[in-house]
Amino acid sequence: MKIPMSEDVPPTGERARDFIRDVVRDDLGAGRVETVVTRFPPEPNGYLHIGHAKSMCLNFGVAREFGGRCHLRFDDTNPAKEEHEYIDAIQEDVRWLGFDWGEHLYFASDYFEQLYGWAEHLISAGKAFVDDHSAAEIRAYRGTLTEPGRDSPYRERPVDENLDLFRRMRAGEFEDGRRVLRAKIDMASGNINLRDPVLYRILHASHPRSGDGWCLYPTYDFAHGQSDAIEGVTHSLCTLEFEDHRPLYNWLADNLPLPSRPRQYEFSRLNMTHTVLSKRRLVQLVEDGHVAGWDDPRMPTLSGLRRRGYPAAAIRDFVGRVGITKSDNVVEVALLEHCARELLNKTAPRRLAVLRPLKVVIENYPEGESEELDAINNPEDAAAGTRKVPFSRELYVERDDFMEDPPRKFFRLAPGREVRLRYAYFITCRDVVKNDAGEVIELRCTYDPATQGGNAPDGRKVKATLHWVSAAHAVTAEVRLYDHLFERPDPGAGGDILDGLNGESLTRLDECRLEPALSDLGPGEPVQFERQGYFCLDPDASADRPVFNRTVALRDTWARIQAKERPKA
Ligand code: ATP
Ligand code: MG
Repeated sequence: MKIPMSEDVPPTGERARDFIRDVVRDDLGAGRVETVVTRFPPEPNGYLHIGHAKSMCLNFGVAREFGGRCHLRFDDTNPAKEEHEYIDAIQEDVRWLGFDWGEHLYFASDYFEQLYGWAEHLISAGKAFVDDHSAAEIRAYRGTLTEPGRDSPYRERPVDENLDLFRRMRAGEFEDGRRVLRAKIDMASGNINLRDPVLYRILHASHPRSGDGWCLYPTYDFAHGQSDAIEGVTHSLCTLEFEDHRPLYNWLADNLPLPSRPRQYEFSRLNMTHTVLSKRRLVQLVEDGHVAGWDDPRMPTLSGLRRRGYPAAAIRDFVGRVGITKSDNVVEVALLEHCARELLNKTAPRRLAVLRPLKVVIENYPEGESEELDAINNPEDAAAGTRKVPFSRELYVERDDFMEDPPRKFFRLAPGREVRLRYAYFITCRDVVKNDAGEVIELRCTYDPATQGGNAPDGRKVKATLHWVSAAHAVTAEVRLYDHLFERPDPGAGGDILDGLNGESLTRLDECRLEPALSDLGPGEPVQFERQGYFCLDPDASADRPVFNRTVALRDTWARIQAKERPKA
């Protein structure tokens, strides 16, 4: 079965070569595997983040490239932390990123009965036992990396007694933590995961799907591999922290009558500068109110990135460039921004918007008149055509584009200086109006009617081109600018990550002036505000009060980093 995909997927696939794709290619070539089956297995205890995007692009990507299929499986074995909200949000985010699991939506909780049966199978074979030790005792007996563990005194319980106790555990006779089921492997193993790992624990908790049907829940290790086998997964791709679990994954497969034999492969997780990607941390940010929610545009969640204006294709492009390896590394968040910029530059229409307005009065422009000037929609895309922008006597320009006493390298507006207004005229600043506090509140200027369109017939030059908006025609809007949520490149270094929260990660500008064409923009449509960056409408917008998020500024820090790293010619 071919996984349907949208057409614009960048080449994270066909051209990609990595050790996992090599394994899949070899398995198919040698006939060890007929159809490749992968799975993306989120635990429904939070929203998906950009790290999960790496896992999705790999799992869904491999399935698509090799003509197989990828399942979406909720790894919902821990009832305490799971919610329906997460299950819905995760599906929405997977689809948004461009992936489709078709009819292959699964829940590990649907396998509880089968898993339980396999646990009894292990007990009957003398390969699992019920341990009365508490969690603390189990820990004390486990040993360390350098010392072997000790056998539990309950390890040699007869099979019948184990079966009886295990059934009574299921029947709800014992309170939480009173007993556990453990595999009987090797307390002296160099791999701690093989020192009689816990397979089941008692938890009197209601489960979002199985309700109160169970008070006994399988551990990750017991549920995951067996779920893979039930579904016929051929390549179970996970992150490196599970490498040490692989021997247990294989031990269980060797000792259970599974319907298929999956193999586990590990790759390094995505880490990004200025970003935390642990769900535990992200939950904390949301619950303690450090951000406005899971979809706060500063969050590295897919819902946050979407709200911020990141196209799904830019995220896939980013993940493709990062690649799949086995070595741990940290990727610059600037690379993600670069991918968004590169894509948006080709697709986003240009508009004029003044974020911090300063009034300009063109003294020699007739009062009460206006005209429509042609403006180019996208210099990267001739087919995008042109639009009309209204020009009149009173305008707004960017406050930063004027200095009363400019330093040597400031070429924009200043008293007596001539500049170009984009698509309009040359104007010259004649006078400055100030309030009682001495702040500049208005510029009095003149324009040269002969420079319409932005060029002087006598060939004289100006050193700056400014964006502007006609005051009478402007739409007033709120614009939200974002910076990294964490100041340090490594938020985990140096103590409490919350101490490293950037107090200036959100700037709200609520008196922005936009050209009228911007009132036609739809939700989710990207736009470039000339000289300011890429933006999109935020869902907080109302009909009479647009709210825009800046996705990324125009300045490309990634390109700068690369330029710095390139040896000088
Ligand atoms: P967290 O550590 O944030 O809680 P998790 O691994 O517990 O993440 P799951 O919901 O279990 O989150 O993850 C689903 C899949 O996504 C797993 O296969 C996991 O390995 C993968 N994954 C999670 N985080 C990353 C990451 N940063 N990079 C790559 N893959 C990831
Ligand atoms: Mg997990």
